Amino acid sequence: MMAPLGPGGYSRCVVLKPRLEKCSTEFARYIVAHEFAHAWLHNGGWGEITDCEEAADAVAASWGFAKVPYE
Ligand SMILES: [Zn+2]
Repeated sequence: MMAPLGPGGYSRCVVLKPRLEKCSTEFARYIVAHEFAHAWLHNGGWGEITDCEEAADAVAASWGFAKVPYE
């Protein structure tokens, strides 16, 4: 996930790696949801979850995209 563009701005850029073309659809959906969760959380925590990666996973799971291991 990239840092926000510009001070205090709301602009976000989600960069999807080319390998998404080669992985399973399930994994790709999880990654996209995880990255959107980072943007939604402004790269921060979620409730009691202070680790931004764990927070993004938790939000993605709450949206119905549980973590999928990379194959
Ligand atoms: Zn992440």
